Amino acid sequence: MKSSVENDVIIVGGGPAGSTVGALLAMKNRRVLLLESEKFPRYHIGESLVPGVLPVLDELQVLDKVRAHGFIQKNGITFVWGKNSETWTIRFDEKSPAAKKYGSTFQVIRSEFDNLLLRHAESQGVDVREEHKVIDVIFEGDRCNGVKYINSQGEVKEARASYVVDASGQAAVLGKYFDIVDYDPRLKSVATWAYFKGVAPEIEERRGNILVESTPYGWLWVIPQHNERTSVGWVAWATKYKELLDGSIATTFAKVLASSSEAHRRLEEAQQDSEIYSTRDWSYRCRQLTGPGFLMVGDAAGFVDPLFSTGVWLATKAASLGAQIINELLENPAREQECMTFYEASYQHFLGQILDFVRYFYDSSRTQKEYFYKAQGILDSEKKDTARSDFIQLISGVSGLHRFLESGGNAPIGVEYQKG
Ligand SMILES: Cc1cc2nc3c(=O)[nH]c(=O)nc-3n(C[C@H](O)[C@H](O)[C@H](O)COP(=O)(O)OP(=O)(O)OC[C@H]3O[C@@H](n4cnc5c(N)ncnc54)[C@H](O)[C@@H]3O)c2cc1C
Repeated sequence: MKSSVENDVIIVGGGPAGSTVGALLAMKNRRVLLLESEKFPRYHIGESLVPGVLPVLDELQVLDKVRAHGFIQKNGITFVWGKNSETWTIRFDEKSPAAKKYGSTFQVIRSEFDNLLLRHAESQGVDVREEHKVIDVIFEGDRCNGVKYINSQGEVKEARASYVVDASGQAAVLGKYFDIVDYDPRLKSVATWAYFKGVAPEIEERRGNILVESTPYGWLWVIPQHNERTSVGWVAWATKYKELLDGSIATTFAKVLASSSEAHRRLEEAQQDSEIYSTRDWSYRCRQLTGPGFLMVGDAAGFVDPLFSTGVWLATKAASLGAQIINELLENPAREQECMTFYEASYQHFLGQILDFVRYFYDSSRTQKEYFYKAQGILDSEKKDTARSDFIQLISGVSGLHRFLESGGNAPIGVEYQKG
């Protein structure tokens, strides 16, 4: 059904969430306008993808393009974590259905990955306007039906649509408009990172893995990239950050790396090849994710924590569900409340599931087995599988959505889902 409004959907933001919603709706012949404030390719952090992303890339029909791009293939995670600070490794294909079906996931350079997804959305018919910044949302009564934006010529314009999707990432345009962003006081960190050349490659069986190593009051990541550089980051608890600072950020970062075990070993011959980046890394979510005429996806809805590299997966998974919901509502507007309630419950459920596990894992004084049993408690209370398998499935991007459906949440639409 074509409505009389100029667009079926307006999407705010062209990151992975916005490109995914846009492409999937355009593939259903919906008229989609996507407004992105930056000019792509643009820099972004968030470079390690879990296998749960792969089914969505397949649904988008972009998986072959992503594979052909040459990103580093990621098969698992190497941890230095837990009571004995030992090194241990998991491979996703030990358990993850997505890894078994599609093979490796990827360590991506986000400017390239995000640009690939945005160009793909455009090729599917999305009207992508870069350097178009949304400055306000427009309501008629309580119904969101458009946005106000500044275009690349600096002119203020308005656009209308049947639905507005907020995919603006941490800018959280709608969340801030309604003032409904709740921060989690237990997960506040400061992230510091840089890119290095000459990092020693991992041994063959761990090659391409992300390294996740605990440090006093925080942790480190080491992520190989396909341009010969390696992304190395340090996440420190915000409550301890001032105490941990020993000189400048740069000298503290260098000292933390030097006192690590596995990361230090890999970095012995390496040279820093970029500036040092730093950001506050607060966990948050919006109290409400939907309403009349609007829906939020990705970081605009909530951000858990970088620890398990779940951001892009959550963003694209929610975007896939959001696209199915909006497509249904464009056909059957009377079902809005029912469908939006389902989206809201599913999304809050899978944000909650990851959050619960991340909080538990942050206590690095536990044993591996304790982490595995915790994952089993979340995913598999009847213990149908081994605890290690449940752990792998959880951190591969097990879709909270399928758990929600299996545990009795009634999908109002024929939601298609694939396990991560
Ligand atoms: C330190 C750190 C490490 C991380 N590591 C990982 C990782 O390893 N793996 C992983 O999967 N995730 C990781 N993440 C999370 C990941 O970066 C995000 O979850 C992911 O980028 C979310 O995608 P998105 O599309 O929702 O938002 P974004 O990718 O942020 O895209 C939002 C887009 O909206 C645009 N925009 C914003 N405001 C407006 C506006 N007013 N008008 C128009 N456009 C606008 C922005 O320019 C941007 O392009 C990490 C995050 C942090 C902080």
